[in-house]
Amino acid sequence: QTPLVEVKKLQKSFSIQKGWFGATKYLKAVDGISFAIHKGETFSLVGESGCGKSTTGRLVTRLLKPNAGEVWFNGQNISSLTSDQMRPIRKDMQMVFQDPYASLNPRMKVKDLVAEPLLIHSKMSTKERDKLAHELLETVGLSSLHAERFAHEFSGGQRQRIGIARALSVRPSLIVADEPVSALDVSIQSQVLNLLQDLQEQYDLTYLFISHDLSVVEHISDRIGVMYLGTLVETADKDTLYDSPLHPYTQALLSSVPVPDPSQKKERIILKGDLPSPVDPPTGCRFHTRCPSCMEICKQHEPVFREVEPGHQVACHLYDEEMMKLAR
Ligand code: SF4
Ligand code: MG
Repeated sequence: QTPLVEVKKLQKSFSIQKGWFGATKYLKAVDGISFAIHKGETFSLVGESGCGKSTTGRLVTRLLKPNAGEVWFNGQNISSLTSDQMRPIRKDMQMVFQDPYASLNPRMKVKDLVAEPLLIHSKMSTKERDKLAHELLETVGLSSLHAERFAHEFSGGQRQRIGIARALSVRPSLIVADEPVSALDVSIQSQVLNLLQDLQEQYDLTYLFISHDLSVVEHISDRIGVMYLGTLVETADKDTLYDSPLHPYTQALLSSVPVPDPSQKKERIILKGDLPSPVDPPTGCRFHTRCPSCMEICKQHEPVFREVEPGHQVACHLYDEEMMKLAR
């Protein structure tokens, strides 16, 4: 089966200028990543802020155009389509953002916020749109009695439900959710995650879920990709990643995830140093400045992202076959 989303060697740089007369430098936000998302699954991208996961989400939905590489959606290469050509496809991919307050116009009634995407993507009458907005509000666990109110009258969790209803209005097949629960209290987080899971079944949705927090994505993900400084360092199905992570960075991230049974707690791996600047990433393996297992080769040669067992990819010299042979 063709994946719903296929990303091939995707690259995106932003130019930044230091000072008025400073030289232009390039920040490689995303530097050659590849992954696929299958229909009906939840693929999560995880990593510290600035690792390129939000940029990846915006590239997949073509809010940004890549500098190199390709994005395939439903078997079609959408990387260089014009905005006119993108319009019918846009309907099929919606985003849910971290801060529902910032992404919802405070001067619009909730019913109009929810139905707004339909203005562009459908020929529905106002009455039809209102009716659908009422239904969608019920679907996301709000009352349709809320339809005439304004977004600022709602709590963070309720606003995120409004954001989700809005994304659903055009019946997309893909939802890219960028830190959708990060601004919410922990107790509310799980409610919104449960809602997203219910909706996935009900509406046959595929999710690209973006988060800095491995404890948030655990229950919702089928597969997970870990990003570091613009590159993917490991992808695996959820259980494999949590039970036997291979990349030292994944291992460090996981060591700080709280576990229900304290006797199961692995020793916390504290990473040395700060996150290097993506403008000047370290040579060789980008993680080498902080890696507890760094070897000489890591400083010179960038490890290749490759499959080490079916469905499990990693970019780390510890798993190079040639290297392992030498070490024996
Ligand atoms: Fe650490 Fe080397 Fe693996 Fe990079 S390639 S993660 S520095 S062991
Ligand atoms: Mg982000």
